[in-house]
Amino acid sequence: MSESKYSIAKVGVFIVIAQIFVFSLASYYLESEIACLSLIPIVCFSFIFGELRGLIFATVVGLCFSPLWIDFNDDGSAWWIFRTFSYGLVALSVGFLSRTLKYYTLFEKEIRFTDIFMELPNKHALCKKLTDMSKAQKSGNFALVVVMISNSKTLAETFGNEVLKSIFNQFKDRCLEFAKKMSFDVEVYSLNSDKMAFFFIENKENALDERGKFESNLISIAKKNFLHDGFFVHGDCHLGLYRFSDFLETNDGELPLSYAEEAVDIAIKQMQDLVIYGPSNFSQKSKYPKASDILGEIDLAIRSRWMFLVYQPKIDMATGKISSVEALIRWNHPVKGFVPPGLFIPQAEQSTLIENITDFVIRQAILQLKLWQRSGINVNIAINISTYNLLQPNFVNKVLYLLSENKLPPESLEIEITEGTLIADFQHVLDGLKRFHDARIKIALDDFGTGYSSLQYLQKLPIDYLKIDQSFIRNLGTGKESKEIVKAIVDLAHSINVKTIAEGIETMADYEYLNNINCDMGQGFFMSKPLASNAFVSWYSENNGVYRCK
Ligand code: C2E
Ligand code: MG
Ligand code: MG
Repeated sequence: MSESKYSIAKVGVFIVIAQIFVFSLASYYLESEIACLSLIPIVCFSFIFGELRGLIFATVVGLCFSPLWIDFNDDGSAWWIFRTFSYGLVALSVGFLSRTLKYYTLFEKEIRFTDIFMELPNKHALCKKLTDMSKAQKSGNFALVVVMISNSKTLAETFGNEVLKSIFNQFKDRCLEFAKKMSFDVEVYSLNSDKMAFFFIENKENALDERGKFESNLISIAKKNFLHDGFFVHGDCHLGLYRFSDFLETNDGELPLSYAEEAVDIAIKQMQDLVIYGPSNFSQKSKYPKASDILGEIDLAIRSRWMFLVYQPKIDMATGKISSVEALIRWNHPVKGFVPPGLFIPQAEQSTLIENITDFVIRQAILQLKLWQRSGINVNIAINISTYNLLQPNFVNKVLYLLSENKLPPESLEIEITEGTLIADFQHVLDGLKRFHDARIKIALDDFGTGYSSLQYLQKLPIDYLKIDQSFIRNLGTGKESKEIVKAIVDLAHSINVKTIAEGIETMADYEYLNNINCDMGQGFFMSKPLASNAFVSWYSENNGVYRCK
């Protein structure tokens, strides 16, 4: 029994004995019904020592003391047997209740914070630890290392799941030994079946500071083979390291863990043994909020006008005519700042939230188009939609209704749908696209070249434009290969009567090359970045509706 449980038990025993003594004396001398209070020590005893000991105690109390107590009725002789029996029942139920409570508390502690398979504290436990330290504003030298086995699936298929446990246990033992040698504390957590975390806390000055040594030791621990069932197995262990000396002001305990996890993801993608989280390799990503933190605010953002549209011109390359603009969504969060579409659109596309976003975009775009047309700016507008939108039963009707309500011809609207998302539920998507096509709305296949659509699909799709992905355009200046690929795409599209749009044009050389190979339209920072509506009006007027390559 632990120290604290032992002292609680001693106090409990003392209270019970004192109560028996007091109540027995009281009931004997005062000859009152106070004898009923003798239940209190039984309840206390059973609560502390459980139902079995409680039952023995209740029986002893009942048999020894009840005959001494005066009963409620005059003929008390039979009552003491009944009372002994009821004491027993009380003891049993209280003992059982206390056991349930104990299990529940244990369950809360053990199950919520423990990985049963690994018999180690889990991710909740680590987050709690980090949050507590953050709230207490602890400072020191900390290193959080996330270890991931990238060949876990193959290993588990060959040797069974136990092999991961055995690799991690050996890894843990090596780390504990290493930490002991280096004189720092280490806590081990299991994040999931193929991921573990080691939280190093500096104990002696400069131990963690011997950076190179610390890292090379970790790598050599990871690189050694592991023994499982008499076989040497190779666990492809990758490490993500995040060092910090102060907790960030956010009190968000999960932040250091998310950095170390990001680092390990990069390590796996780039086949490196160890990646250290630092501003150099993560500067862009880390300044934005996490998608999961902001998804719940999408509706509010739409209602509060934190979301708005910007417009990027598309140029007819042969004539320079500014024929269309692409509406791109922007989200300016009042607290978290700018949230790029790449962060929330893919997440929203996994849920019905994309319906609300697209609804907002279409209404705004159509309103804007009407305003521009009234002031003599004759451009089409392109909106990005998701395949999920096409699966909504009334989507096409709604778009057509909005156009006719605003007295706009369907030809003034273009929709862009990303190539990579097309293959899922192809037939439904195709039906939706056909309905748009029949209604004379133009369709562009966005980010072409990044997905896996075969030529067979291309032929089936009722598309008007192929939008060549910017990754090809970006490489035009450096690689002969990209030039050839882009030319091949343009020729292929023309051969099936589809026009081409090059996106991401950043230099005059790219513009000229694309013009020479007869790419139909171009879009990119070279001509104009996405602009707010007023800025677009000024830019359009300055250029008189025709862009001249300068
Ligand atoms: P996208 O439809 O392919 O849009 C083109 C993206 O490339 C835009 O990024 C645009 O700002 C950027 N871009 C254009 N020209 C250049 C250039 O010359 N250089 C570089 N580096 N970038 C250029 P943005 O606005 O961040 O949008 C990213 C993606 O988010 C879009 O790719 C689109 O797939 C999605 N998205 C944006 N707005 C919406 C929307 O309203 N609805 C939906 N469903 N998706 C949207
Ligand atoms: Mg687009
Ligand atoms: Mg694109």
